[in-house]
Amino acid sequence: MAKKWVYLFDEVAEAESYAGSWDGVRALLGGKGSGLADMTRAGVPVPPGFTVTTEACNQFSASGKFPEGMWAQELAALQEVEKRTGKKFGDPANPLLVSCRSGAKFSMPGMMDTVLNISLTDKTAEGMIELTGNPRFVYDSYRRLIEMFGTVVLGIADEAFEEPLKEYKEKNGYKLDTEMTAEDWKAMVETFKAVVKKEKGFDFPQDPLKQLELATEAVFKSWNGKRAIDYRRATNIPDDLGTAVNIVTMVFGNMGDDSGTGVAFTRNPSTGDKKMMGDYLLNAQGEDVVAGIRNANPIENMVKKMPEVYYQFMDITDKLEQHYKEMQDVEFTIERGKLWMLQTRNGKRTAKAAVKIAVDMADEGLISKEEAVLRVTPDNVDTLLHPQFDEKAKKAAEKAGAFFARGVNASPGAAVGQAYFDANTAEKMAKEKKQAVIMVRPFTKPDDVHGMIASKGVLTSEGGATSHAAVVARQFGIPCVVGASSITIDLEKRVMEVNGKAVKEGEWISVDGTTGEVFIGQIKTIEPKIEEQSELLTILNWADEICARDGMRNAPPKWPTRGLQVWANADYPKDARRARSYGAVGIGLCRTEHMFFETERLPIVQRMILAKTSEERTEALNELLPYQRKDFDGLFEAMEGYPVIIRLIDPPLHEFMPDEEKLFEEVVTLRVKGETEGLKEKEDLLTAIRSMHESNPMMGLRGVRLSIAMPEIVEMQVRAIFEAAADCTLRKIVVKPEVMIPLTGTVKELEWIQPRLVRIAAAVLKEKGIKKLDYKFGTMIEIPRAAVTAAEIAKLAEFFSFGTNDLTQMTFGYSRDDAERNFLVTYVEQKILPKNPFQTLDRDGVGKLMEWAITEGRKTRPELEVGICGEHGGDPESIEWCHIIGNNYVSCSPFRVPIARLAAAHVALKYSGKAIVEDK
Ligand code: PEP
Ligand code: MG
Repeated sequence: MAKKWVYLFDEVAEAESYAGSWDGVRALLGGKGSGLADMTRAGVPVPPGFTVTTEACNQFSASGKFPEGMWAQELAALQEVEKRTGKKFGDPANPLLVSCRSGAKFSMPGMMDTVLNISLTDKTAEGMIELTGNPRFVYDSYRRLIEMFGTVVLGIADEAFEEPLKEYKEKNGYKLDTEMTAEDWKAMVETFKAVVKKEKGFDFPQDPLKQLELATEAVFKSWNGKRAIDYRRATNIPDDLGTAVNIVTMVFGNMGDDSGTGVAFTRNPSTGDKKMMGDYLLNAQGEDVVAGIRNANPIENMVKKMPEVYYQFMDITDKLEQHYKEMQDVEFTIERGKLWMLQTRNGKRTAKAAVKIAVDMADEGLISKEEAVLRVTPDNVDTLLHPQFDEKAKKAAEKAGAFFARGVNASPGAAVGQAYFDANTAEKMAKEKKQAVIMVRPFTKPDDVHGMIASKGVLTSEGGATSHAAVVARQFGIPCVVGASSITIDLEKRVMEVNGKAVKEGEWISVDGTTGEVFIGQIKTIEPKIEEQSELLTILNWADEICARDGMRNAPPKWPTRGLQVWANADYPKDARRARSYGAVGIGLCRTEHMFFETERLPIVQRMILAKTSEERTEALNELLPYQRKDFDGLFEAMEGYPVIIRLIDPPLHEFMPDEEKLFEEVVTLRVKGETEGLKEKEDLLTAIRSMHESNPMMGLRGVRLSIAMPEIVEMQVRAIFEAAADCTLRKIVVKPEVMIPLTGTVKELEWIQPRLVRIAAAVLKEKGIKKLDYKFGTMIEIPRAAVTAAEIAKLAEFFSFGTNDLTQMTFGYSRDDAERNFLVTYVEQKILPKNPFQTLDRDGVGKLMEWAITEGRKTRPELEVGICGEHGGDPESIEWCHIIGNNYVSCSPFRVPIARLAAAHVALKYSGKAIVEDK
């Protein structure tokens, strides 16, 4: 049988059996096509039509022509539609008009092309007038076809049509399109036909089938248009999906006051509230609402004008939500009192709405908790923890007269940036000049998306909550205010104004996408408080609950069978408290050396380093001990009952010393001036620093090597840790210290140092009279040799923590300090590497070492606790790998803890029941 390229809307069962699943149907017929077919099956009033598959589009893209048999199938389907509507394509006596719409598997709003009113010609237009007795509507529809066909199919610039229409309206003193009469539109039809002739050198086609053929081709081609490609890049939609083409019987919302059109979301896409939100217009066509050109009415007003249609609409949309178990974004048209549903799809929403809708739907019993957790993305969580305006600073700005304008709060969050009035400039200033940018436009079009993505915020003077700017901004989590209608933007003079207050291009503004306010100048922003976001907390608690379930991983005995825990990297008690409030259940890395840098401690540290005798060194260390004890005490207290991993000193000692070059300059200056005071000390210091010089310090005297060369430092640290632990225990605070030795390369290093430290720990506890304390000694795995010899290392180490910053550096041989600026960007661009390996774990190399290390380590010590504390610990893709290979936990910066909690639950659900951690 010939390949099927075309499916009527009621052939969804066939599509399903061919594609094998509903996801397959969506890939084959696109989101819009599958939605129309599914609605048809559910008995929702959908205008008859058919879908040309994405497979046909891909064939077209490859060969440049329609695949064999496709056009014949399109014609046959058209005949079926003729039968169902009782109308005939191109027949002036009863013409069938169709639209030709793009629709890929994933919605790409406004990125591809659509042509409406296909089959209107001089002849059918006459027939339509007779039939409807409404010449104004017919000529208006006809001119729309010529304009869309001209721009979309024939590639004529919008202005070629917009300019003559603008001039015509001005000449006749019209402000709005609604003031145009039948005669006016008739005149515009002729003008537009002349535009086509002038621009292309041939007439607008009067053959309806030719119109359909060329429109189908244009939609196929729009898949590879710049707009669509840019959008796919920004949203990670694969290039090989292709778009379907939907041919749908036209229904008209511009047939008089008993007709209309609108768009709606079944819940508020900005806040997530369970209340229908949408706009409609009487006597108008769909694009009037979407473009936000005419001011639309809120959907709830429809109840007064057309109560029956309104209730039918509410009933249908309710059913659609129940059916898809998702918030729907619908388009509808009312033609002479009859409601038609033109589209339904899962609605785009803000991060805030995504979380609220997921929680509400789970509470309503529509979806499970697991599904709710899966519906929220790590990016959503990230956005919700983005800055908001500091209320006090905002009030002060208001008082100081910085308030500029108010519009619709289209996408929440605070944005501060310099205003630029077109997408190209906005993008340029953001990318090349590294400025924080707010893109300001009267309204946005799909061509503006690149500017929006590059901006911190978006402001428009026109359009509503469903306008292009609003939809796109919400999708990308960009704060956005639309329809701030008091603003006049002068695109030529590059200035915007409200009541005499002006903002020139390049000046700072602050945009509050949560409230819709716009201010002149920069307002301070603050981090949002997680504890005030109850729905987010609910989702995260559900995520933890999922991860805590035993059996989420198949694993050998004593390996973790639950999902990952999330710990945090925190050096100070205040970080630890934040980590706790963000839900961390342990500290995975406290970098103790950070504490050495504090002003009052650094001179002591330097004295300790420069000490000539062991006594001098011990004296300096004795001074440092109380500081460290206090640091650790605070950490233990903040993390009461949870494990705290304290890493012993890691960096090379020269990092604590003054800058060599600067010191040399000072010495030279003193010498030149002939001053002797302090010269000797500086010269000695310089000699000492020079003697510490290493060509490759990252591979030099640091980590455990330093501890072996100079054990007094870590001996002091271990004493401080256990004194603090003992003090806390005496205060009835439960503590679980874990002492971590960095940069181990061979077990011999541990054999040398660890027993000394263990002895100190035991001695301190004895001194303090503590009989029982839960503690561990372990090591970081950040040198490939340690990973390879993990079975040996685990003989001493009671836990492993992957230091994947160093492990990546040493496995690739890339400097973690220089690679990003020197060549990594090129490597990623040239696809030599799929991603920056310092951000996302390289599973094939570094990841394999980790997997080996865990397996080997647990052969020696089955209950070995394993974590990760490199930057990768907060990256969702890397978290997935840690789950797969059998980590107990991931540890990341406190700010990323909520993201990691969600990501950990996602991966637990993804692999739940599947054997990932095989019997090793
Ligand atoms: C690491 O190497 O991954 C690590 C956490 O240690 P640091 O970044 O302090 O070297
Ligand atoms: Mg390291």
